[in-house]
Amino acid sequence: MNIVILGPQGSGKGTQAFALRSRLGLAHIASGDVLRAARASDTELGRAVRKYYDAGELVPDEITVQLILEAIEAHADSDNVLLDGFPRTVAQAEALDTALRARGERIELVINLVAPLDVVRERLASRWTCRTCGAVYNLLTMPPKIPGKCDLDGGELYQREDDNPEAIQRRLSIWERENSELLAYYADRTRVVDVDANRPPDAVTEDLVSVITAQPG
Ligand code: AMP
Repeated sequence: MNIVILGPQGSGKGTQAFALRSRLGLAHIASGDVLRAARASDTELGRAVRKYYDAGELVPDEITVQLILEAIEAHADSDNVLLDGFPRTVAQAEALDTALRARGERIELVINLVAPLDVVRERLASRWTCRTCGAVYNLLTMPPKIPGKCDLDGGELYQREDDNPEAIQRRLSIWERENSELLAYYADRTRVVDVDANRPPDAVTEDLVSVITAQPG
């Protein structure tokens, strides 16, 4: 089954995907992770990605779509795939549908994480991530046991380059603009389920497990 998880930055897509990976054995493809890996390379592609990523702008579709389709292809043998951060625009959703259709597949379920923007803005400003395993912490509500170190593997925690106030504002405005069109696109084509993300992470995970396991597919 192919699942897309939507929601503003800071609504907990990464945290939930992390939990679902171990609960349901889903393959998790996060466009931010794919683009951060590309950004780290000292190549023309890496420099192009860095320019947009660090400013909080969307990376152009011709770069993003190709990198994500390659990541999806690399998980072709997984039964369940969770796409997080992609698609972000209707053009990307169309490119994804075309690529899936060519393999006789489609998006069976869209999960829409709903959270007020003032809540996600605060979460993003206090978000720290493990450099080794990608686990996400919140210094206010979910701090690590030892400051600066991941509870799971002791990895170094870092604050993302684009989690600064200007880039956060830009990313959320872009999200507001693109997301309603994306939801309208999927509402016509597949099952879309809203989940209230303004609750403790475990409660959100339980809802997501119920929604996904109830989905035929
Ligand atoms: P995220 O980790 O999802 O907040 O994404 C971080 C940054 O990666 C965004 O601000 C964009 O620069 C880039 N990015 C992630 N997903 C996409 C996408 N689907 N299309 C274009 N750019 C993206």
